[in-house]
Amino acid sequence: MPAFPTRRLAAAAVTAALVVTTLAASPLSALAAEPSPAPPVTAAAATTTSADLSVDMLKVPADALAEAETDDAVSPAAGVTTHPVYVSVATVTAATADDSPTPPDDASIRAAVAQLHDYWWEESGHTVNVTLGGIETRPLDQASCVPATVLNTVHTSAFGGRFARYAWAGTNEHLLVLTRESCGRTAFGTVGGDGGEIFSSYGTGDELGVPVLFHEFGHNLGFGHAGTAMCRSTTSFDGAASDFAYATTTDTKAACPVLEYGDFLDIMGYSVSSARPHLSSVQRVRAGYLTDVTTLSGAGTTRQVVVASLDGAAKGRAVKVVDPISGQDYYLEYRTAAGRDATSTEFGGRSPSCALVATGYTRCALTSDKATGSVRVLRPMTLSGATVSTVALAVGLDASRDPGRRDSHLDAGESFTSAGGGFTVAVRSMTPSGGAVLDVTLAGAAKKPTLAAPTPAPTTTTALTVDRGRQTYGATTRVTATAQVTTADGSAPSGTVTVRDGSTVVGSARVAAGGRAAVTMPGTLAAGAHSLRASFVPDSAAQSGSDSTAVAITVDKAASTSVLTVSARVQKYGATPVTATVTVTGVTGTAPAGTVTFALDGTRIGQVAVARGAASIALPRTAAVGTRQLVATFTPSDASITASTSAPRPVVVSKAKVKATFDWSSARRR
Ligand SMILES: [Zn+2]
Repeated sequence: MPAFPTRRLAAAAVTAALVVTTLAASPLSALAAEPSPAPPVTAAAATTTSADLSVDMLKVPADALAEAETDDAVSPAAGVTTHPVYVSVATVTAATADDSPTPPDDASIRAAVAQLHDYWWEESGHTVNVTLGGIETRPLDQASCVPATVLNTVHTSAFGGRFARYAWAGTNEHLLVLTRESCGRTAFGTVGGDGGEIFSSYGTGDELGVPVLFHEFGHNLGFGHAGTAMCRSTTSFDGAASDFAYATTTDTKAACPVLEYGDFLDIMGYSVSSARPHLSSVQRVRAGYLTDVTTLSGAGTTRQVVVASLDGAAKGRAVKVVDPISGQDYYLEYRTAAGRDATSTEFGGRSPSCALVATGYTRCALTSDKATGSVRVLRPMTLSGATVSTVALAVGLDASRDPGRRDSHLDAGESFTSAGGGFTVAVRSMTPSGGAVLDVTLAGAAKKPTLAAPTPAPTTTTALTVDRGRQTYGATTRVTATAQVTTADGSAPSGTVTVRDGSTVVGSARVAAGGRAAVTMPGTLAAGAHSLRASFVPDSAAQSGSDSTAVAITVDKAASTSVLTVSARVQKYGATPVTATVTVTGVTGTAPAGTVTFALDGTRIGQVAVARGAASIALPRTAAVGTRQLVATFTPSDASITASTSAPRPVVVSKAKVKATFDWSSARRR
């Protein structure tokens, strides 16, 4: 919504707009069933309009929207505000044939309002307390179900006229109109007035009805939509505020087209079956719901910050960066597949859903990694023609490293530089338990604003080579990976190179003379195929980061050896048995863990865990008389070590004497 914050609008001064959310049935079911390459990230998947339903409802003036670029005026939400929801269930037409098979009943309404409370109570930092004001039903006897007509009819008479003429403005009371019919598959809320009206024909089901209520209630609280934006440039993935424009088609001429509902990690973005992700950090901060924010501002600032997962209550879940050149606000957040965010389709493990933004520019969604999570770069934004509060920038590259094909998040090793080079954020690493480690650099004081013609930072390239293609697990001879960083303008690269094995950091080094940085692989690299990639993270925004292509290396298993000894070579049948001992050696200096299986003439006689490099077993007293072959096989518990089998060792089992005599002396002499 316009000009945040608007939580304290007086009733007399209310200016409100209805936000109509028409969630077409077909793209939704297509998404639920199959990750088709076009929807849902195309604008056609969800259509939206800002509609005035009567002369009493004024559209927010366009010029007021432009003020939302910075949010310095935001103050924390003060205390708990109670929001009673009055639910009116309308039977719109006399025909029963069009009734929903499961119309909202009292129990499902109570359950839905309870979930509405739980959701907004958490997102608001325990300041929005949703309660059930009442439930009523009313027959309307209308010829057909027209959503706007239904809402207008109900709101004049519902609950004794309590909501007539928008008397809710400033009261924090909400009228929720549900229908027994599937009425146009439409839902909308009101934006801008401490209370409001919601119409929904999605009912109260968990699949879509409840998430739609969360979304529409968000409008009543003042939130606009969460979109995504992709700037048409392969050198700067950002633009000036004026470059961003609402896009309905792929041929928009805007430098940075914005897809209004494109953010899958915000309840105010696209509503997908059963998904109920968190409200993003930007929305929360600007509403005063989240006050624990790390703010970075001031030219020349260089900071490493750890951002905790937005899910949960950890400290430091949002970073606000004030671009020293443009003055624009940016937010950095770390989202993981935990809590409510685990329901987001972003973490659903589906195939990427990619849509052409313009010729040569493809924006992909559903590409967040469930194991590592996603670092996102967001901008608060208002656009004419759309009710948008925030956009997630398409800043990340996918595996093809094609700058024309981007994700709305950064992976470890990736970096983003704002338009004009005001600041750079590089993702050093991220783990759901430890948070995302970000290197944020704000351009130095000497840098003058270059808004008219932003000068992109000199492009760097990073090439990675290895001195050998393989190493053995645990061995001292290891692969050294050397990165060569080259700048387009010939300046000396200054920064750090991080080498990753997949998404795991295996080492980093400062870039030395000649632009080279070498990292030797650890001996603990597990056996198997590895894919190394080097990322250059510059010290300042004067240079851009770059990533190498992947280089494959192989780690061979470390050999193990098993040496078998016996306490005696002859065992008297039925007498005290011979003890067999296996000594296992593996990686230099370590005794490998695992088990040893003993077999006599190919028949297993027992399995013993290795302890301090050895395992022993007593042979069966009743081993058959004759020469038996004893063999031991070591099975390591570490998959990076090979199994090994001992040389066979004969054991002679002699006949028992009828009369027991001292045979031990002779046995011992052997
Ligand atoms: Zn909406």
